[in-house]
Amino acid sequence: MPRIALFALVLLLVQPSAQAENTTAATSIPQAAIAVANGLRERALKDEVAYDLVEGLTTEIGPRLAGGENDQKARDWMVAKFKALGFDKVWTEPVSYPKWVRRSETAAITEPYAQPLVVTALGYSAGTPAGGLEAEVIAFDSLQALKDAADYLVKGKIVYVGIPRMHALVDGRDYGTGSAVRVLGPELAAAKGAAAFLLRSVGSDNNRLAHTGMTRFSDPAKAIPAAALSNPDADLLDAVLKRGKPVKLHLALDCGLDGTYTGANVIAEITGSERPNEYFLTGGHLDSWDLGTGALDDAAGIGITTAAAHLIGQLPNRPARSIRVVAFANEESGLYGGRAYAAQHHLQIGKAILGAESDAGADRIVKVTATVKPEARAAIGQIAAALAPLGIEYDAEAPGSGGSDLSAVHAVGMAGLSLRQDTTRYFDWHHTANDTLDKIDLEQLRQNVAAYAVAMYLAAEAKGNFGSAAGAFAEQKDEH
Ligand code: ZN
Ligand code: ZN
Repeated sequence: MPRIALFALVLLLVQPSAQAENTTAATSIPQAAIAVANGLRERALKDEVAYDLVEGLTTEIGPRLAGGENDQKARDWMVAKFKALGFDKVWTEPVSYPKWVRRSETAAITEPYAQPLVVTALGYSAGTPAGGLEAEVIAFDSLQALKDAADYLVKGKIVYVGIPRMHALVDGRDYGTGSAVRVLGPELAAAKGAAAFLLRSVGSDNNRLAHTGMTRFSDPAKAIPAAALSNPDADLLDAVLKRGKPVKLHLALDCGLDGTYTGANVIAEITGSERPNEYFLTGGHLDSWDLGTGALDDAAGIGITTAAAHLIGQLPNRPARSIRVVAFANEESGLYGGRAYAAQHHLQIGKAILGAESDAGADRIVKVTATVKPEARAAIGQIAAALAPLGIEYDAEAPGSGGSDLSAVHAVGMAGLSLRQDTTRYFDWHHTANDTLDKIDLEQLRQNVAAYAVAMYLAAEAKGNFGSAAGAFAEQKDEH
């Protein structure tokens, strides 16, 4: 190679290409994009697609327990919907996990006052012996009290953790306390030799319906039966316990692990016009608990994000970057879909420029937060300004991991945007038989579609990035 050509090549290699971002320059969103986003916002407030998706998924498929009989049907349904809505690419990526099944569940107080109780098994609960088990109850008012208890007091008993009922709050902040009892309590009780574990449902309602949800046993061979009592039944058990007499319960759970299942994340894309390999990552989870039809959790998230991406796909021109919608597999039993996505895409996580998942029902978004590089803060401010007419407040201090499944993707370096919904009503119905279509408020659902359409479009059009890179944000604390 002639020396002059070699010199030119070296220059080419050391100079940043026209495409490369200057990572220290401020990220900004062009005015023309903001004008388009304002139009999207108005059209989204008349959107029919999100509601049709929620109605369709809950009516034509219904409960979608991960690995259950509707798992494949839901994926086929989703692939067909993405194609019918005109997405440019639709594909699936496999996700494997231990399959858990629920067959039947009953409970009753046997002493001192015989009464039936409404319970539901927690995901990953072991079954009881056939015919059930009967044992004395030992009650605790917190996870800490159970931790502090001497093993011999717990051995052979049914542990009951009677946490206070969740308050119905706009930010759902009681959920963290309750879900910690649900996730960590059964394994703690098992380690102390308990026969079974019960907790007050993690829910803010007074319906006689129990709230399910996952628990965790690091060694499945050491799993014990674990279930939630409905709030009125927890009140009843509390009142019986107050009498100070020994209390015995009968518990019969037919449930447990049943091999390994391979499902899939269903993915669709509106392909960008200038940087098609870079994308805004959004979506919801396709699985649901089996007790309701999973309208709020999380057909709503699927509907909101798919409808928002569809609106962008209807524009005369594609945005600069792609919009990628993922209908995640098995969020409910341990974020398997999100973790599989993170594992598969972590080396190219810089291509996922920003992510926001919808998984808190269908009520209005009240606040936007983000975890991005400092140079992108002003661009988040521009997005927040375009969201303000929807009544969404910007909290520039709080972090934003992007949502449940995206927490795994955020953990490997994706910048996150959190569009936080009003959860005042959500935890009345969450993970119960009451999670059904009638809880969807069309106007509030549309407000969500509008917010996602605006945020996705503006991020896809941004000049500069939001700081996504392998290993970025490792020092950030999650919001949960
Ligand atoms: Zn969910
Ligand atoms: Zn859930």
